[in-house]
Amino acid sequence: MNRQALDELKQQIPLMGYLQAHDWSPARPLSGGRWMGLCPLHEDHKPSFLVDTNKDLFYCYGCGRGGDVIRFAELYHQVKFPQAVAWLRQWRGAEPLLQEAARFYRIQLHRHSEAVAYLYQRGIRSQALIEHMGIGYAPGGCLRGWLTQLGHSLTALRQAGLVTGVGYDAYVQRIVFPLEGNLYGRSLSLAAPPHRFLPGSKGGLYAWKQAQSHPEVILVEGLFDYAVLWEAGFHNVTCSLGTHLNAHQLRQLCDGPRTVYVAFDADGNGSGQQAAQCLSRSLRERGITTRMVSLPEGHDPSSFFVQGGDARQFQSLLEEAQ
Ligand SMILES: [Zn+2]
Repeated sequence: MNRQALDELKQQIPLMGYLQAHDWSPARPLSGGRWMGLCPLHEDHKPSFLVDTNKDLFYCYGCGRGGDVIRFAELYHQVKFPQAVAWLRQWRGAEPLLQEAARFYRIQLHRHSEAVAYLYQRGIRSQALIEHMGIGYAPGGCLRGWLTQLGHSLTALRQAGLVTGVGYDAYVQRIVFPLEGNLYGRSLSLAAPPHRFLPGSKGGLYAWKQAQSHPEVILVEGLFDYAVLWEAGFHNVTCSLGTHLNAHQLRQLCDGPRTVYVAFDADGNGSGQQAAQCLSRSLRERGITTRMVSLPEGHDPSSFFVQGGDARQFQSLLEEAQ
């Protein structure tokens, strides 16, 4: 990539926008379009991270690091310069496309009673919750036509993973949840693998901005778990989209003092509980208090609520958590 292409890339991804998309928020303004906030690159307790929105540069008075959006991506994702550039290019290209796809899937949801019925059966019953999570439905066989008609190239659709190599919609009969830089698809059909993500990172913790400010946070492994807890009034909930947390998610969870209630599946083979133990060890090493929520055998938060559990009963599980 030549100098001009790099400059273009930087212009198209303003540093502040990229930071905010990664859960950074400014703590206080300085003069001349400059902002101070906590440093996302080291454990920071008083704002030492300066962002200059006019020059599109950052500098941290704590860890002494600074530069442009590419330098930030290198440090933040812990990759070398070429990978950081590739990462940013993909981010720039995929984001508008994914938003368009998510919008299309949202429109489809209410045209397909089987999708609404499935959500109902999984405890997602209010329109407010559906809107809060931006839930949609991919019937299959119609996204490609819609997006190409809007002027997106087939190559771009393939690159984003929305369309397969041979040109079919990648998500068929799936409930779709938009994530940061990805879309999660849950299959209605038992014949297909239940969980799918588009290629690339699953992103950070789900809806972290809302959970972040709470001194106590409930961590669940699936979006259906997130949904029932949110609906029951627990708005301090977040989701890791699987039992394994990536480095970014781990850093988010440890970005301040808090207690984390780990409510993973109590599945028969114990894999959810094993993962929860392992996670709680690594959180404790980072100074985070953890409590393990024990659900009745064979349950996850989703099935707990679907089978008649209520907020008061879940609250007592939280209080009993070790
Ligand atoms: Zn720093």
